[in-house]
Amino acid sequence: MEILEAYCVELGKVVDIYDAQKAYFALPENRRKRFTFRCSDDACRAEKNPLVSGVNYDKLVEDTEKFRQIHFRAPVGNPHLETCIWVQGHEQRQTGGGNADSDPHPRVARSKSTNVIDVFRPKTSDLSADGPSGRPVTNSPVDREPPDVNPSTGRGARTRDGYSSTSLLERFIDCWAQFEGDELKEHQVVIGGKTLSYRQAVLRPDWITPDENGRRIVCGGARVKFWPEDTPKRIYINFMDECEKFDESEGGRSLTIDLPLSRVHAYGGGALLMKKIEQAQAPGHYLKVYFWGKINARDQRPGYVVEIEALDNLVFKAIARQSDATAAAAPLDSRNG
Ligand SMILES: [Zn+2]
Repeated sequence: MEILEAYCVELGKVVDIYDAQKAYFALPENRRKRFTFRCSDDACRAEKNPLVSGVNYDKLVEDTEKFRQIHFRAPVGNPHLETCIWVQGHEQRQTGGGNADSDPHPRVARSKSTNVIDVFRPKTSDLSADGPSGRPVTNSPVDREPPDVNPSTGRGARTRDGYSSTSLLERFIDCWAQFEGDELKEHQVVIGGKTLSYRQAVLRPDWITPDENGRRIVCGGARVKFWPEDTPKRIYINFMDECEKFDESEGGRSLTIDLPLSRVHAYGGGALLMKKIEQAQAPGHYLKVYFWGKINARDQRPGYVVEIEALDNLVFKAIARQSDATAAAAPLDSRNG
């Protein structure tokens, strides 16, 4: 039974596993302790109070480029109410509910039942990452209609994720990273109304063309610089690859993400981003960056800079090099090469 959201006892609200990870790494290290989760369905929690396990959300380092799947799990011996949204969603999916039944392609049908993401709806502001607390979960995750504005707070749209749709770039990337070679051509994702293969959806800086700018996810190895060094106010994320298919801008094609630290700290996932940078800078590790955003010419400086509308559209992965030999041969993007 797939559980996409759970009630976190310590936070006193319903979270998805990525919210849980952000909140976990936002805790001071000496007080960091794994959370206790219960079912997010109010009636189910009131009557049966089943325990839900959070898996891998407390881990920072990726051992390989097939990124670790962070998720909730329903441990045995913790029965849910028959009417619980997760039980209902599970049954719907088992009986080919949702939109899988009309699909003539068994591979696609199978991917639905294994939560392969086929819709990615990028966020448009940092705020949505911090959505209203204790939001009610009433719809089945299969039926959910994004975006969902919380009527009680009127705060920005908190888009709710379904089994195969997401507004979190990291959730899509974690799914995408499980595939390689021809599998990347077989799976498809709809982004902004356009259907792309998994292979087309994620491009390196040196592959993306000006026509694809702002319409693809970009990924690559990067180095991070804090500026000024003594009391940093900004983070510069400098990609190792340049925008080779773009014209030179002020004599350069380098690609940079320039973020004020104040923006990172104001964002719910800011502590997690900073921890990942720190981890990636440790010996034997490297940083891989994924973003959804527009590449613009830099103002009066050579090269290009990325406009990131929402920090949830920026994903860092701190990856441990497996060994010196493989690291030297293919430290980055080996899956895509
Ligand atoms: Zn339940």
